[in-house]
Amino acid sequence: MQLKLYTCDVLYSGMGTPRNNGAIVVSEELIVATGTPDELKQMYPQAVFAGHHRVIAPEPANAHTHLDLSAMPYTEKPYTEWIGEVIAFSRTGKRNLESALQGLTQTARKVGDIVTEENVMEALLQHESAQGIAYWEVIGVNPEHADPIFQATVERLRRWRKLERPGGMKVGLSPHTPHTVSGKLLKMLCEFADAEGFPMQIHVAEHPSELEFHTSGTGDLARAVEGWSGQKTTDILGHANGPTIVEHLHLLGVLKTRPTLIHVVNVHESDIRLIAEAGCPVVTCPRSNQALDCGVFNWPAFAQHGVEIGMGTDSTGSGKTLNILDEIQFASTLYGEEVPLRSLVRAAVKGNYRVLGLNVPFLRRGEPVSNLQFWSF
Ligand SMILES: [Zn+2]
Repeated sequence: MQLKLYTCDVLYSGMGTPRNNGAIVVSEELIVATGTPDELKQMYPQAVFAGHHRVIAPEPANAHTHLDLSAMPYTEKPYTEWIGEVIAFSRTGKRNLESALQGLTQTARKVGDIVTEENVMEALLQHESAQGIAYWEVIGVNPEHADPIFQATVERLRRWRKLERPGGMKVGLSPHTPHTVSGKLLKMLCEFADAEGFPMQIHVAEHPSELEFHTSGTGDLARAVEGWSGQKTTDILGHANGPTIVEHLHLLGVLKTRPTLIHVVNVHESDIRLIAEAGCPVVTCPRSNQALDCGVFNWPAFAQHGVEIGMGTDSTGSGKTLNILDEIQFASTLYGEEVPLRSLVRAAVKGNYRVLGLNVPFLRRGEPVSNLQFWSF
């Protein structure tokens, strides 16, 4: 039996923390051992050196994307202006099933996707190889419309749940953001999803203008939302301006339903503490944050508070590609020494699998070789 030895900069077995300077010995079909190159060379002198890789780990996942925007050209613009581009793009009719299926071929097999069309939801739930969660996006700023929107959402989610297949994608819910979903509707949706076990993602504190919207009711975003909806920020929120976005979620009782929070760039230390206490995982999309002039996710602070961090590409419109390895490479350059590659690898595997409700395959003696992937970037 021919044994092969591979070495790598980072090895992640799916257990504990990833290690630097790792190695793995495999037979044709099974993993034989993991360790350091020296240890394994000594234990398996007959193993033939078969190559060095940047990372050896289980398959990475993409925890947050918008596959139906896969035909949207990459656009660098401040958040509020960029949203205008998305609305204009959606009017072209190209935000559709074809784009979503095209996007699916360009991203990880395990994916968290925000869905806006019924036929996309049905196609993802019936897809043969995709895994993860398809989150139905809900928008509704006017609290007077909360009840009918809530009823329609409940009906849809229960209907789609019947289409779930073993090993396939699951139905989730994405109340879009705390500034595009009234406080009243947000609370109803999150309590329902929590009670019936639908996983959630909410975009939170992506751009500085969102924080202004909440705390003072001023700024570009507040003006834009009031312009298209006719709703004052205080009507949407259901209380006076003042609390931060995360405090708003806490006051509504949303945090305790443990949604996954996407972006969380414009937050204070006290917000991070609230998120950590509630046990909500977060997902960061560093390339998108840069394209939309949002600022930089405070990875070290979230890690220090013990928050589970995942990573996503967002759409091609703001993330450029749907390849999670491109996101890791960008993050590695962005954070440098502050966030070691080991942490980025853990986020793309352990963090993302947790968000998507999947079990991480282990790289250990006796497990199939198919559990491991070589990551190159
Ligand atoms: Zn997004």
